Amino acid sequence: MTTTYPALTETDAAALVARLRETHRSGRTKSLAWRREQLTRLRALLTDNRAAIADALWADLRKNPAEVDRAEIDITVLEIDDYLEHLEEWLAPQPAEVTVSHLPEGTTARTELDPLGVALVLSAWNYPIYLLLTPVAAALAAGNAVVIKPSELAEQTSALLARLLPDYLDTEATAVVEGGVAQTTSLLAQRFDHVFYTGNGTVGRIVMRAAAEHLTPVTLELGGKSPVFVDRDADLTAVAARIAATKFSNAGQTCVAPDYVLTDPDTAEALAAALTQAIEQQYGSDPRAADHYGRIVNERHFDRLSALLGSGRTVTGGQSDRAEKYIAPTVLVDVKPDEPVMQEEIFGPILPILTVADLTEAIAFINDRDKPLALYAFTENDTTRARLIAETSSGAVNFGFPIFHLTVPTLPFGGVGESGMGSYHGRYSLETFSHRKAVLDVPLT
Ligand code: NAD
Repeated sequence: MTTTYPALTETDAAALVARLRETHRSGRTKSLAWRREQLTRLRALLTDNRAAIADALWADLRKNPAEVDRAEIDITVLEIDDYLEHLEEWLAPQPAEVTVSHLPEGTTARTELDPLGVALVLSAWNYPIYLLLTPVAAALAAGNAVVIKPSELAEQTSALLARLLPDYLDTEATAVVEGGVAQTTSLLAQRFDHVFYTGNGTVGRIVMRAAAEHLTPVTLELGGKSPVFVDRDADLTAVAARIAATKFSNAGQTCVAPDYVLTDPDTAEALAAALTQAIEQQYGSDPRAADHYGRIVNERHFDRLSALLGSGRTVTGGQSDRAEKYIAPTVLVDVKPDEPVMQEEIFGPILPILTVADLTEAIAFINDRDKPLALYAFTENDTTRARLIAETSSGAVNFGFPIFHLTVPTLPFGGVGESGMGSYHGRYSLETFSHRKAVLDVPLT
C-alpha cells in the first residue's frame, strides 16, 4: 500500500454519522422515488465509467477488462436491475393471517419493511466494485443512509470510487471513507443501524465485537475452504473445464472459489490430468503471458501462497515470480490433510486434490472442518446429491458450476458458522437492510 489516507478521528466519524442520520430522520431516504433515483444513478456510475474502472482494476489486480465487465460491472448492474424491477413488490406490506380467537372480528395483521437507518458497508479487495456496490445498492434500495468503506488493498479502485460516488449519489445520505485499520476503527466506534462486512473471519470478529457495543446487527460475508466432491461417474473433461474456469479466475482470489477437491484415488489421477489440459486450454502453455490471468494482490499474500506450494506433489504449475506477484495455476496431488495447504483458506491459484474412500468419508472430512461458504459436487447420482445436502452444513450447495450460485439473485448469498452470518442478493438484501415490522390493527368497537 502506498497511499496515506487522511486521518478520521472518532469525532470526525461521529459528525459524519450524525449528518447522515439527520437525512434519514428527515424521511428523504424512505421514499420510493429517492431509492429508485439512487439505484439508477449507481447503475449509471457503473456503465458511464467502464474504462476508468477497468484501468483501476488492472492497476490493482491486473484484472482483465472482459472479466471486469462480467464479474464486477455487469453482475452489479444485474443486481441493481433486479431491485429496480421488484422494489415495489418487495416493499408491499405482507398480510398475516389472524388465527387467534381472543381478538375481535375485523382485526388485521401485516408486516412492513422498515429501513434500519444508517448502514456501514466495509468491503474486501478481491472484487472491489461488486463486493462494495452490491451491498451499497441493497442498503439504498432498503431506504437507508450509508457509509461506504472500500478496501485499501485495492487502492486505485478505492480512489476512483471515492471520486465518483459523490458525483452520482445523494451526498447528504451517503459518504465514502477511504482508509485502513485506523479509519475503520473510528467508524466502528459509532452507533450504526447495520454493519455489513465482507472479508476474513479475524476482522469479522473485530467488527462484531465493536457492533455488539451498540447492539448493532451485522452481516458477515466471510470465506473458508469450499470443497469440491468429484464422483467417479462424472465426465472428468467437463468437470476439469468447470473447475479450472472458476478456480483460477482472478488468480484464485475469490471467496467462493473451489478450495480443494475430494475424490477417490482412481479419479484423482485422471482428474489431475484433465485439469492440466483444461488449464492449458484456458491460459495456453505459459499462463504468465496470458493477459486474462491475474496476479496476487500483494507481497504478503504472495509469500503466504508460496509457502503452500510445497504441499503434496505438483502435477501442473508450481512456478512463481515475486517481482510480478505471479503464481502459476497449480494442481497438487497426494496431499495429506495435515499439510500447510489444508490448514487455511488458500485464496490463490493452488488446487490440492485429496483422496477419500467413498462419499461417507468425504462427508465426514467436510464435517470435521469449519462450515464452508459453498460445497460443490460433480455427480450424476441423486442419492449422492441428497446425502450431500442433508448430511453437511454450508452457505450453499452447488452441483455442476462452482461460483455461479451467486449470480442467481433469487438465491440468498451468505455463509454459516465460520463462513459468515446473514445473507443478501435480490429480495434477501431488502430483508437484511430493513426491519420487518409487525403491525396489528384491532377495531376499537
Ligand atoms: P481486506 O483486507 O480488504 O479487509 C476487508 C475490510 O476489513 C477492509 O475494508 C479493511 O479496511 C477492513 N479491515 C482490515 N483490518 C481491519 C481491522 N483490524 N479493523 C477493522 N477493519 C479492518 O480483505 P480480506 O479480509 O483480505 O479478504 C479476503 C477474505 O475475505 C477471504 O477470507 C475471503 O474468502 C473473504 N471474502 C468473502 C466474500 C464473501 O462474499 N463472503 C467475498 C470476498 C472475500
